[in-house]
Amino acid sequence: MKAVRFHQQGGPEVLRYEDAPDPVIGDDDVLVRVRACALNHLDIWVRSALPGMKLPHIAGSDVSGDVAAVGAKVEGLKSGDRAVVNPALSCGRCEFCEAGDDNICTSFGILGSATDGGYAELVRVPARNVLPIPGDLSYEQAAAFPLVFLTSWHMLVSRAKIAAGETILVLAAGSGVGSAAVQIAKLCGLRVIATVGSQTKVDKARALGADHVVNHSEQDLVAAVRDITAERGVDVVLEHVGPSTWRNSLRCMARAGRLVTCGATTGPTVEVDLRFMFSRQLTLLGSMMGTRADFRRVTGLIGSGALKPVIDSAFALKDAAGAQRHMESRNFFGKILLLP
Ligand SMILES: [Zn+2]
Repeated sequence: MKAVRFHQQGGPEVLRYEDAPDPVIGDDDVLVRVRACALNHLDIWVRSALPGMKLPHIAGSDVSGDVAAVGAKVEGLKSGDRAVVNPALSCGRCEFCEAGDDNICTSFGILGSATDGGYAELVRVPARNVLPIPGDLSYEQAAAFPLVFLTSWHMLVSRAKIAAGETILVLAAGSGVGSAAVQIAKLCGLRVIATVGSQTKVDKARALGADHVVNHSEQDLVAAVRDITAERGVDVVLEHVGPSTWRNSLRCMARAGRLVTCGATTGPTVEVDLRFMFSRQLTLLGSMMGTRADFRRVTGLIGSGALKPVIDSAFALKDAAGAQRHMESRNFFGKILLLP
């Protein structure tokens, strides 16, 4: 098969479109012929900095396609089925998996990071991670939702426990997680304040349902949030950016507010003033990916049209380096796709 691999970690130039061995499936696996694969910021970490990476490696967590072959023990799936893949890999046997908290699995991994992923014509995935593409979704739409909607759903519904009538601040509405979070928060009855980094993204954020959009490159975010909330602050902050936004994220929180984070796009280390945290009774929550139950839930909501995948652009698989440069430019809104 053709695949985009890297033999050493580095910049986008290490990505090579080349022949690679077809994946070999086990008894409980499915071979998927990839029709579309969405990029995630994780792909850039994997390519450039993630320690312990086995090389050569194929990135790509968000896969849609057709079932090409099934392992001997696989039931309920057959060649030709249109498939979308849950990128969260878990063992199914540890104490956390047994409790239904499979995203805390002791051997948790992500497709395209822990294993070879979807920057390829074929990918091997566990059969239990495969669901039918819901409704009449295209392959492109089906690849554009799994990781970010799963992540946002778990952050907001399972971790922050959002409730109708609350106000939420969603950072970077043009990012994959942000564009999913705006929609999920609206679906759950919240008032949404979203941030964007350029004027061209303001209307797009509003079209997703954001009640207020703050262009952080031109406006003071904290002042804008105080103005919108009549000095009160927001009940929930959805963080995924890190050091460059952290201080303002805390300052936007109402008393007893919750901040939930899933990412460190601008770096790993932030400061917390403990006096501010305990006196205002703030809650800081970490979240990663989501559970198998979360994935079924979001797949159903995508299928019914209640939530909509947001697509920025599509590149040919062989131009994966160009697609990643586009992501690193930050000049995008929604998911960037690769098409084999
Ligand atoms: Zn487990």
